[in-house]
Amino acid sequence: MADYTEASRNKCAACFRQFNKLEHLVDHMRTSYHSIHEPTCGICKKHCRSFESLREHLIGPLPKQECKNIFSVRGCKFCLTVLDSPNACRFHQDRCQFSVANGLAARFSNIGLRDNLTIDNGVMRGNQVVALACKMVGGGSDGSLDLCARVCIVDENENIIFHSYVKPPIPVTNYRYESTGIRPEYLRDAMPLRQVQRKIQDFLCNGEAMWRIQPRNSGTARILVGHGLDHDLDRLQLEYPSIMIRDTAKYPPLMKTSKLSNSLRYLTQAYLGYDIQTEIQDPYEDCVATMRLYKRMRSQFHKREEHPLASDPQNRNNFAAWRQNELERLSPEEMLAISRSDYYCWCLDS
Ligand SMILES: [Zn+2]
Ligand SMILES: [Zn+2]
Ligand SMILES: [Zn+2]
Ligand SMILES: [Zn+2]
Repeated sequence: MADYTEASRNKCAACFRQFNKLEHLVDHMRTSYHSIHEPTCGICKKHCRSFESLREHLIGPLPKQECKNIFSVRGCKFCLTVLDSPNACRFHQDRCQFSVANGLAARFSNIGLRDNLTIDNGVMRGNQVVALACKMVGGGSDGSLDLCARVCIVDENENIIFHSYVKPPIPVTNYRYESTGIRPEYLRDAMPLRQVQRKIQDFLCNGEAMWRIQPRNSGTARILVGHGLDHDLDRLQLEYPSIMIRDTAKYPPLMKTSKLSNSLRYLTQAYLGYDIQTEIQDPYEDCVATMRLYKRMRSQFHKREEHPLASDPQNRNNFAAWRQNELERLSPEEMLAISRSDYYCWCLDS
């Protein structure tokens, strides 16, 4: 058929969508921000917007049959990479799956901030990274207003840096005991919110003035990992620059295909292979889960590019400055080669 070459010429080199007309492929490339940072099928090299859609492609529902067949013999169901052999896959998968973070933290529930924290990982490799999580009790007449009553911070090696009850500034009307395990007497003499807020703020900025904090490994301020951090920070009355925040609820590769957030519980189950938040919830458990997810995402191996983001001035917002007829002269592969990501991939922290 005469159309055959025309059709494959108008096929997106990343997501493999076919377009009837070249100009439609160009329009697609202008708005899709395909990049080497997207989750990619280890078999057919299709790019997906999220790991969720890669999972659908490899496992189902409605998988691509050839990829599914190979993946079912030598694919890791946690990180979705494809190994060389079924044996290598078993070995890999055993190490890829995490087990429950032990609940030691719960027993040491008031650990003050170790301000002089030094993380000795041998090599200097960019900013220190910490994870933060809170547990909320209820305030207001119907108990629906979230008040932070417990906060935990861990370092990259899952060591506790800070773990404390917090005395909310207004009366607690619902302790939500079944999930928080918090009793009134735990909060009576706890550290006041204001003091917690100041300590954590100083700890995160780590001697750097907030307004001077720059992205990408240039200062002493710490990278902050968490899940739904907007809410945690709001309840702690903390401000922190978004360039230093790595939120597992908002990182596009970890979001649903519908672009909504996944729950931390789901992410931990699907990508790390264990259950959290089964009984009384300790924020330590959430810290560890988010840190593990962060480190897994950071360790993705993606080619190094000079200017990895579409928003970098050198990329002129990808195709914004290109004329339509210039783009129409490029092959689909050439268009993909100059396309850059519209989100900050965490591999760039490594
Ligand atoms: Zn595409
Ligand atoms: Zn990347
Ligand atoms: Zn595939
Ligand atoms: Zn794996």
